[in-house]
Amino acid sequence: MKLLIMGPPGVGKGTQAKGVAAHYGVPAISTGDMFRAIVKEDSPLGHQVQEIMNSGALVPDEITDKIVENRLAQSDAAAGWLLDGYPRAIGQVHALDEILAAAAAEIDAVISLTADTDVLVGRLLKRAEIEGRADDNAETIKNRMKVYHDSTDPLLAIYAQRGLLVEIDGVGSIADVAARITAALDSKLS
Ligand code: AMP
Repeated sequence: MKLLIMGPPGVGKGTQAKGVAAHYGVPAISTGDMFRAIVKEDSPLGHQVQEIMNSGALVPDEITDKIVENRLAQSDAAAGWLLDGYPRAIGQVHALDEILAAAAAEIDAVISLTADTDVLVGRLLKRAEIEGRADDNAETIKNRMKVYHDSTDPLLAIYAQRGLLVEIDGVGSIADVAARITAALDSKLS
């Protein structure tokens, strides 16, 4: 099973990715988590990524694509995966297409989690208090929303055109949204 999960910042992508991936027995692969791990390494790349993440911008495609390609080549990803937060820009869609073509593999479905922007900004500010994420301050949140709107939202049309998009209302309890996702995927993929 090869899945993507997309949605605006704060919609609960990461939480749902972990649950859905566990449900289907595949690893949840989050580019945001991988970048947070790189930042902790205190290397020149880590410092570069930290600055970008703190501004709410996207890490350049050439760095991101390479990291994803290497991660998907690991043995635990051989049977499938759920990509959380990738692709996020048009160049990344093409890079993923190439990675998949080289492996003669295809995406099974793209989950699009939706919610109202006001709800999301409220959620992110609350998460900032609880988790202390450096990129959850008001200024960065505003920029991440803009980046999502400008760069990532247009990708949904591409996957819709390919007949892969499964739109899910992301407002509700974690369990309710998870149930919606697995029900929609099971009916699409059966
Ligand atoms: P996330 O945890 O998915 O919200 O990602 C946090 C930050 O990591 C983003 O705001 C970007 O700076 C960076 N990031 C995560 N995924 C990507 C990606 N696919 N392309 C570029 N930057 C990314």
